[in-house]
Amino acid sequence: MLMLLLALAVGADRPNIVFVFTDDHASHAISAYGSKINQTPNIDRLAREGMLFRNCFCTNSICAPSRAVILTGKHSHINGLIDNNVAFNGSQPHIGKLLGAAGYQTALIGKWHLKSDPTGFDRWAVLSGAGGQGTYYNPEFKTDQGPLKVTGYCTDITTDLALDWMKKRDAKKPFFLMYQHKAPHRSWEPGPAQLGLYRDVEIPEPPTLFDDHSGLAGPAKKQEMTIEKHLSPFDLKLTFAKNLTKEQLAVFEGAYRAENEAFKKANLTGKDLVRWKYQRYIKDYLRCVAGVDDNLGRVLKYLDDEGLSKNTIVIYSSDQGFYLGDRGWYDKRWMYEESLRMPLIVRWPGVVKPGSENKDLVQNLDFAATFLDAAGQKVPGDMQGHSLKPLLEGKRPEGWRKSIYYQYFEFPGPHSVAKHYGVRTDRHKLIHYHASNEWELFDLQTDPGERRSVYADPGYQETVKTLKAELDRLRKLYKADTYVEPIMPKKKSGPTKKGAP
Ligand code: CA
Repeated sequence: MLMLLLALAVGADRPNIVFVFTDDHASHAISAYGSKINQTPNIDRLAREGMLFRNCFCTNSICAPSRAVILTGKHSHINGLIDNNVAFNGSQPHIGKLLGAAGYQTALIGKWHLKSDPTGFDRWAVLSGAGGQGTYYNPEFKTDQGPLKVTGYCTDITTDLALDWMKKRDAKKPFFLMYQHKAPHRSWEPGPAQLGLYRDVEIPEPPTLFDDHSGLAGPAKKQEMTIEKHLSPFDLKLTFAKNLTKEQLAVFEGAYRAENEAFKKANLTGKDLVRWKYQRYIKDYLRCVAGVDDNLGRVLKYLDDEGLSKNTIVIYSSDQGFYLGDRGWYDKRWMYEESLRMPLIVRWPGVVKPGSENKDLVQNLDFAATFLDAAGQKVPGDMQGHSLKPLLEGKRPEGWRKSIYYQYFEFPGPHSVAKHYGVRTDRHKLIHYHASNEWELFDLQTDPGERRSVYADPGYQETVKTLKAELDRLRKLYKADTYVEPIMPKKKSGPTKKGAP
């Protein structure tokens, strides 16, 4: 009895949490989600041993905002981080502080990108180069103990640091690790171990690579994220990063030289040129994904070897989805499915049924509440998300949400995607581009690829009315209706030369 009380007091029975988080990894580049273009054996292992969520959506499809939503359990307009330009206000409550206060050891390692320094984590090491984006090679970190620069490949180094922290932790206390990769974010520079992948294969093209967006409202035609026009020579590995060592540069030249010379000679134009760019882009993206998957394998092996797998929740997710040539695009931001969806796989031995699936509507908004609930902590009343623990146990709480709210703010900005907000149910999606007062309605059952808005169709007017009422309800519920957007500074729009952000 005394031992049990002692165990409860120090929380020895509470699960560890390893949050594996990547940047821009679309679920349609994960084989457990049915990818037609790659294999991800280690992520698939998590799905086989855990639960795969089919309908996880972000609230705002862009890097830093998604991270802030995960930390706080609050929508962007409440936590303040509405776009990539704002710094995170680290004085507010967030999951690192709350789990720390509950007796967890906490660490945050890798991509952070929230401009301010992390607060409330016992240990942190965050990528600091390239404005917080970090570099793929020889990355610089800012840590709680000073600056750090390591020669090598970012995905490998981030894993080394995460493993090192786990090895040195206090084994008597539960831990919470945010293990967060830069990959597979633009500019998709593969690691040395993955550079040779996909060399002589052709990756299948998405059916919408040459989409003209004729069934959509005006904003889709004004974006700047096409494979055709907006990838830079650096994105396409026609030039290489300036910070490579001599040896690394030689490896890059060896990997790309012959293909680049053939490309220059071929003088491609029109659709042939788009097809070439797509192959180059998608192969590098998938090579970066393979680097993540290989390194996840190292972490899972460590947990196995140390006997930690049984009492450790492992989550795989990424900050939003991404266009993999779909609609002719790369990048994210839109409320369309490809960028709205997030991968979410949770392995929790003894709680989650291995190989199970969930189709309820869940969001990154729910992650903080889930971590707290898993740690046996009360979820603060002002968090806007809900714990997924019941869903993980195979039970759907009564009144679980039947619709999600989405809002994107960053305009003017890179890639020129208009501000919009909207609502998605399991069947429909209504999007409002409020600056130009344009609307789109999609019937996801008859048009899962969202190729044609039926907003003006006479047969859908009842649906429009119902969804507008639901959108109003959600905007009130989340206090988005009274939020006043700050005036954005005039910024040059379009992709930057170097391929960031
Ligand atoms: Ca991202």
